[in-house]
Amino acid sequence: MQSELLKKYFKKAQKEKWAIGQFNFSTTEQLKGILLAAKKMKSPVILGTSEGESEFLGIFSVFHLVNNLVLDLNINLKTIFLNFDHGKNLEFLKKAIDNNYSMVHIDGSLLCLEENIKKTKEAVILAKKNNVLIEGELGIIPKTGEKINKANLTHSEQIREFVDKTGIDCLAISFGNIHGIPKKPLKIDFERLKQIKKQTNTFLVFHGGSGTKSQDFKKAIKLGITKININTEIRMIWKDSLKQALKGKEIKPYKILPNIIKQIEKLVEEKIKLFGSANKIIC
Ligand SMILES: [Zn+2]
Repeated sequence: MQSELLKKYFKKAQKEKWAIGQFNFSTTEQLKGILLAAKKMKSPVILGTSEGESEFLGIFSVFHLVNNLVLDLNINLKTIFLNFDHGKNLEFLKKAIDNNYSMVHIDGSLLCLEENIKKTKEAVILAKKNNVLIEGELGIIPKTGEKINKANLTHSEQIREFVDKTGIDCLAISFGNIHGIPKKPLKIDFERLKQIKKQTNTFLVFHGGSGTKSQDFKKAIKLGITKININTEIRMIWKDSLKQALKGKEIKPYKILPNIIKQIEKLVEEKIKLFGSANKIIC
């Protein structure tokens, strides 16, 4: 099972202090760029699709699309994992579980603690029944432009209760990180991360990695982050390089799109190097 192997990767990453990148996609160019980077760097990667991205691609199609491209690009399938990102709807999450995702993320972060525990627990039961890993979320991660409100960050004193009562495998936390590209440099709350790490051995997840400074990633990994999510930067490179490519007279998509794939591959390669997951394939 892919999920058992993914758990081994998380354990290895935690022990050796590196992180697995989750790279989101909703187009074939993005997917190809990520896969080619993973192949070149000999790195495990998690492919993420949010509810919107999964809906656009077609939840019945995602796994097959990935699986077939992995074959076409001659990549080791055992290094590629799929995560359903920020699932809020349990029915949709169940569809991801039924359609070969290795992992699902239930996002109850906007609910009060009690309701978040309740909803997350329901998702955990669904996931565990099907031998799929599950990520929960505690604390609200703001979007670009939103103010960081200390009261909404993850509180270390709630961690044990949340993890013990839900039985999650991974935990997304809010410690100064934001979704989207920050307008001014982020102030990551490393002290908070330290306190959180003291409370749990659960694999900790850094959401909203786009635009974060290299040294902040390195410090966060050192302090216990084992998974980092990148989405916005991939979307931006896709859009900018597509705009550029469409300026010429060429109309054949298969001649226009390879450069976009190349740009995404380059970005993901840089992230893999930074996260330390290159050459970490478990044989
Ligand atoms: Zn996220």
